[in-house]
Amino acid sequence: IYTELIKLNNDPNRIIGTLILILDVTEVRKLEEMRTDFVANVSHELKTPLTSIMGFIETLKNGAINNEKVRDRFLNIIEIETERLTRLIDDLLTLSDIESNGIGVAKKVNIKIKDVISEVSHMAEELARQKNIKYSHEVEENLPYVYGSRDWFKQLVLNLIENAIKYTPEGGEVKILAHKRENNIIINVKDTGIGIPKKDIPRLFERFYRVDKARSRKVGGTGLGLAIVKHIVISFGGEIRVKSEEGRGSEFIVRIPL
Ligand code: ADP
Repeated sequence: IYTELIKLNNDPNRIIGTLILILDVTEVRKLEEMRTDFVANVSHELKTPLTSIMGFIETLKNGAINNEKVRDRFLNIIEIETERLTRLIDDLLTLSDIESNGIGVAKKVNIKIKDVISEVSHMAEELARQKNIKYSHEVEENLPYVYGSRDWFKQLVLNLIENAIKYTPEGGEVKILAHKRENNIIINVKDTGIGIPKKDIPRLFERFYRVDKARSRKVGGTGLGLAIVKHIVISFGGEIRVKSEEGRGSEFIVRIPL
């Protein structure tokens, strides 16, 4: 708490009153802290792949380049790390775009949910096939349109489905359902994957929060996907919930008011 005592006097010889100003700066401090943490996190996240890339380039230059097998393996790692950096920067730009402009400036249209889910599903089917995961989508007939940014809505669905596939082992199942309930559209993304421990659920939507950092890195995660999802859901005036059981699977439930 910040306090200041101010004497009110237009005539220095006559004090007409005292104003005590008490300001609660908890929120301001919290925001400052979050910003500092965020910059530290971003720097670390950018540096890790760069250090790895530099290391492999050095080793190649020091002779590894002459061994064809080693060279190919190293180049492959450099490529993967570079892709991860690109994804991270894309996600950071998306997040900063939503945070600074909100959804306000994005072009708004009547969104046909069935079409968006079909589009995302083309990509999802390919990803799922590579992992031998059974993927399906089910959208209620004649759903009303949702009004808002189609691009953001697509990003929301995409992030949830990508996560479901990423965190589901081979042979599992991923499903997306959409239906109308009262004056809302409900979207469920369900998987039979690794699940999320109860204690981690409240922090899941924070930037860079991961249950298992090593696993997230291995599957190419940036730690920003759900932070982006949360922003988009809020901008649609909706909410998101998670139901999960470790070792059995997770379900992300999005409610968007019509
Ligand atoms: P990441 O890029 O690491 O996937 P996200 O913000 O998308 O970052 O997700 C944050 C964390 O939430 C992930 O690292 C993972 O631990 C957990 N998570 C997200 N979706 C799922 C899911 N469907 N099943 C299990 N864990 C999940």
